[in-house]
Amino acid sequence: MKDIRVGSGFDIHRLVAGVPFKLGGVKVDSPVGPQGHSDGDVLLHALCDALLGAAGLGDIGDYFPDSDPRWKGVESRIFVERANEKLLEGGFRVDNVDATVFLETPKLGRTKSNVKGAVAGLLGIPSDRVNLKAKTMEGLGPIGASQAVAALVTVLISRQSVGITSPD
Ligand code: MG
Repeated sequence: MKDIRVGSGFDIHRLVAGVPFKLGGVKVDSPVGPQGHSDGDVLLHALCDALLGAAGLGDIGDYFPDSDPRWKGVESRIFVERANEKLLEGGFRVDNVDATVFLETPKLGRTKSNVKGAVAGLLGIPSDRVNLKAKTMEGLGPIGASQAVAALVTVLISRQSVGITSPD
């Protein structure tokens, strides 16, 4: 029997001028980028929370608090790699990822497939197990005004459960 669990994660960062825009660890061509203690990669932060959430392991702030100078300016892939390692230690593997990025500009276009591949690579799963959607906010609110970028991620993880063995 399989032990199947779902996890969700959300993140939002303010966009400011002159900062590199990283999404899923991939550089996106943009005049603005996410402000953050690390590299502000909303997709990887939301993914990290989804992974930890699915495994019942808390959230990103429990492991990588933004008050800790060790995480200042680091690449967010480290957070996802550590979260994935924790899952693997627990016998879990990621079955699939479904992610939505909310941003007005820039348009992701062909960058989307690069981001998908990068996320799959980080998790060690085939890229057809990762889905990435991009939505605008139709000009509404801070995301609609290109003042912020957000991401929402759902993951499914599973492991073979240790069943109750029959006495015979
Ligand atoms: Mg964040």
